Amino acid sequence: MAKAAVLVVDMLKDFVKPEFIPRSRISGTIDAIKRLLDRARAKGVPVVYVCDSHLPDDGEFKIWPRHAVQGTEGAEVIEELKPREGDYIVKKRRYSGFYGTDLDLLLRELGVDTVIIVGVATHICVLHTAADAYFRGYRVFVPRDCVNAPTDEENDWGLRYIQRMYGAIVEESSRLEV
Ligand code: ZN
Repeated sequence: MAKAAVLVVDMLKDFVKPEFIPRSRISGTIDAIKRLLDRARAKGVPVVYVCDSHLPDDGEFKIWPRHAVQGTEGAEVIEELKPREGDYIVKKRRYSGFYGTDLDLLLRELGVDTVIIVGVATHICVLHTAADAYFRGYRVFVPRDCVNAPTDEENDWGLRYIQRMYGAIVEESSRLEV
């Protein structure tokens, strides 16, 4: 792996709750992400939080119930994965972390050519962020134990699609060199 960054997608209080992904379903994922972030920070691999941050009447709420509205508690990163000093935070209003944000500029300034994408949901924001990373020429890794979705079916098809369409490497986080 040349120069990697970890992108932590939408690990927000509004997504880790019974109406979306219950804690009982995602606790193993949170633990795996925490281990990966510890390793990344210890090795100086940049950690970038990519977080939904919606306007109160955001257009996305025509499709989804209101979530992650700017300034509300639901838009905060869950306690277990709170950003540390030196981490980066990119706020987004659409599924992709690249759309209408400075994520691409940030990664290029950091000299990053490989992204390790973790978080939720595999078939929505992880998938769209992986797509835009691929379109921009980044190598994409998705550690399968570090992503999740409301159902196994959504998680599995999201992973398969990312692997097949964007050439992403999908494997256990323990196998990553980070
Ligand atoms: Zn959203």
